[in-house]
Amino acid sequence: MSRNRKAKILATLGPASSSPNMIARLHTAGVDAFRLNFSHGLQTDHEKRLRDIRNLEAKTGHPITALMDLQGPKLRVGTFEGSKQPLQRGQSFDLRREAGQGNADGVHLPHPEIFEAVEVGQTLLVDDGKLRLEITELSADFIRTKVIAGSMISDRKGVNLPDTVLKTSPLTPKDRDDLDFGLSIGVDWVALSFVQHPDDIREAQDIIKGRARLMAKIEKPSAIQHIDEIIRLSDGIMVARGDLGVEMPPEDVPHLQKDIIRRCRRAGKPVVVATQMLESMISAPTPTRAEASDVATAVYEGADAVMLSAESAAGQYPLEAVSMMDRIIVRTEESRFYQAGLDALEVEHHKSGTDAISDAAARVALSVDAKLIVTHTRSGNTALRAARERPSVPIICVTPSQDAARQLSLVWGLHCVHTDRIDGLDQLVEKTNEIVQKSELMTKGERYVLTAGVPFGKVGMTNMVRIVTL
Ligand code: PGA
Ligand code: MN
Repeated sequence: MSRNRKAKILATLGPASSSPNMIARLHTAGVDAFRLNFSHGLQTDHEKRLRDIRNLEAKTGHPITALMDLQGPKLRVGTFEGSKQPLQRGQSFDLRREAGQGNADGVHLPHPEIFEAVEVGQTLLVDDGKLRLEITELSADFIRTKVIAGSMISDRKGVNLPDTVLKTSPLTPKDRDDLDFGLSIGVDWVALSFVQHPDDIREAQDIIKGRARLMAKIEKPSAIQHIDEIIRLSDGIMVARGDLGVEMPPEDVPHLQKDIIRRCRRAGKPVVVATQMLESMISAPTPTRAEASDVATAVYEGADAVMLSAESAAGQYPLEAVSMMDRIIVRTEESRFYQAGLDALEVEHHKSGTDAISDAAARVALSVDAKLIVTHTRSGNTALRAARERPSVPIICVTPSQDAARQLSLVWGLHCVHTDRIDGLDQLVEKTNEIVQKSELMTKGERYVLTAGVPFGKVGMTNMVRIVTL
């Protein structure tokens, strides 16, 4: 079973989708990569899910990506007498340093770093922006604000500070503990939440040390300001539209999405579009037309993957959401506008064998009407560069590295196959033919384009392109 599409589906696991049977059905329905969301659940819950994913992988023979998503410095207010508090527009409301129950005048804010960083005139958003507070006065004990919009606040609601750069590491003590745990059980990717600065990426990469790939979640205005450097230091990017659309006006999200995707595609870094893609399917078996259109837009833009959050983690229709996403992607990629849209973005080529061969492979595939490109890669880099070309045909990525096969399964167009080491040119063609035949992506008599590095086993050696008739 090979997928008949290029864009991938990343689905979040949660209470609605955590039995081994459900994980298997989601995979069959179209999930290429699973997100373990460490904002919810216990480490042991995630460990069990990962074990189920690996068992499924062994059963199907298909590598599956497991991405751990760290909670990050998610800010929350304290609690209230009677758990909620109505507010009036224009009233004054304090955020207090000292612990205690909240009331009509204010609430505890258990994050000392906020008190150090804010300034009068800045905005504080509560509950995904439903409540908007403007800072009017600062003292040692409280931040005084005026209610600009909203009428209710309740226990432990999230706080966003769009104007403020907090002097904190994006890795909280909980994140550090979760990260160690995730790496010890062998996740393939780590997603870093609320990245503000390139140094955040450096800090995380120093801990991860190549044991997983790092995905930076773009959900803060300060990350947008440093976007190129963040892309350069990360292995992948998530357009985290949920928090991004709270920290910035919703009307800015579409053009930022487009811009980030283009930058990632040029850099050859996988990019995921996330949040609210099929939101209404949390409680309905069909999406709104606007949601179907939103998924299609990300696909037209050439995103590597589209993500489901609560739709698959906690909704009533996880399977329906995945099949719906699968159908929208397939249908969009069949459209005559699709390839033309991808081709409109030109990527610059480095003076390297890998880029030259990747460029050539895409062109050769087109001119001889080949059905596939097959790349042999150790580190995975050649496959990433081949995918960056957004060729008209699928790419089989053959690798002796199980980690690379798993990590790259969320990349646009790649069908990853993990094999033993290959020695010599004869074995290369023979083994590749076998893999191609098994993929069912083409039939006997058709042609594929083979790329590899000769001699074998050296990283960065891609120097060969060959047309093979099956
Ligand atoms: P979250 O991240 O679901 O972990 O908040 C995605 C987003 O903010 O869009
Ligand atoms: Mn987020």
